Amino acid sequence: MQYHEVQLLATAANEDQWPDSSLPEIIFAGRSNAGKSSLINALINRRNAAYVGKTPGKTVLLNFYEVDHQVVFTDSPGYGYAKGGTMSVKNFAALLDPYFDHRKNLKGMILVLDIRRIPNSDDLEMLSFARQSDLPALAACVKADKLSRNQQINALKNIRNATGLLPEQEIAVSSTSKTGIEEVWNIISHMI
Ligand code: GDP
Repeated sequence: MQYHEVQLLATAANEDQWPDSSLPEIIFAGRSNAGKSSLINALINRRNAAYVGKTPGKTVLLNFYEVDHQVVFTDSPGYGYAKGGTMSVKNFAALLDPYFDHRKNLKGMILVLDIRRIPNSDDLEMLSFARQSDLPALAACVKADKLSRNQQINALKNIRNATGLLPEQEIAVSSTSKTGIEEVWNIISHMI
């Protein structure tokens, strides 16, 4: 098991606060509770890392984490459920539009999906950010440990049908048993 060095570079509400880094960047996106924090933790393989995961309240921020001095993981706010209402991806447009439009070192998107759920309009909206910016996207279909192998195959097919992603753009992942984590790292290496 490889350990990774992680450093929080910046917490940004707007473009002025983006870190001055030229490392390749990967944005992580997903519905609240899909399993984004768990996936990032499984990728960096540290429990007590600089990685924070959830920002409290309704703060809408991008968190930039440098990993091994090689890549920056940009953590975007979980969408969908929020205390007191729902937060659609559209609510994050002020945060995401400039990032997808201007961030030159952005190399790809990891969309975290619960493998058991059909992607909704927010997930599709998030994917469209990647498509509009010509960025490669990978669906990390987490919680695969909750399904049998056959159920996983079906679920991946349903996710492809809903998103138009190709088989090579989705991976069944379990952040708890670490299945698929190595493959996600492989894809990230290709993106950067
Ligand atoms: P986030 O809101 O997207 O950051 O979601 P979290 O990472 O906090 O995960 C939400 C819940 O799902 C937590 O209770 C996690 O322990 C659980 N979870 C996340 N990934 C997995 C997984 O791959 N397998 C299982 N069994 N549970 C998971």
